[in-house]
Amino acid sequence: MKRKKAGVGKLNNMNCIFCKIIEGSIPSKKIFENDELIAFHDIHPIDKVHFLITPKKHIENLISCNEADKEILSNMLLLAPKLAKEQGLQGFRTMINSGAEGGQEIFHIHFHVYGGSSKLAKI
Ligand code: AMP
Ligand code: ZN
Repeated sequence: MKRKKAGVGKLNNMNCIFCKIIEGSIPSKKIFENDELIAFHDIHPIDKVHFLITPKKHIENLISCNEADKEILSNMLLLAPKLAKEQGLQGFRTMINSGAEGGQEIFHIHFHVYGGSSKLAKI
């Protein structure tokens, strides 16, 4: 069954800090918003530019994603280079922490996009 796209306040988990950002009850430095996605600067940047792309729908992480989330995931990825360019980046790193063992602290899926300092470690 195809899931509906989440609008503001729909299908969200109000114990979740990113749902609160989406709903507007916690402030953020927003750089993008449409019906499906939102992007905002990370509160503790690890590089000159560091922002997060997240869906308005509360999805925990990649581990809980399924076929129904294909479109959201691809839209999140395709948004990264557009926003990175707007933020002045010529290139960037994208990171997705999945699960506690994967270093995830906020259990609302998000893609980290960062760069700008020209000192990214080789991985
Ligand atoms: P993760 O470890 O992948 O779950 O990353 C969560 C990220 O969210 C961290 O980089 C935090 O600095 C960031 N973060 C936490 N609270 C906020 C907030 N209120 N606004 C913006 N970023 C936040
Ligand atoms: Zn959430």
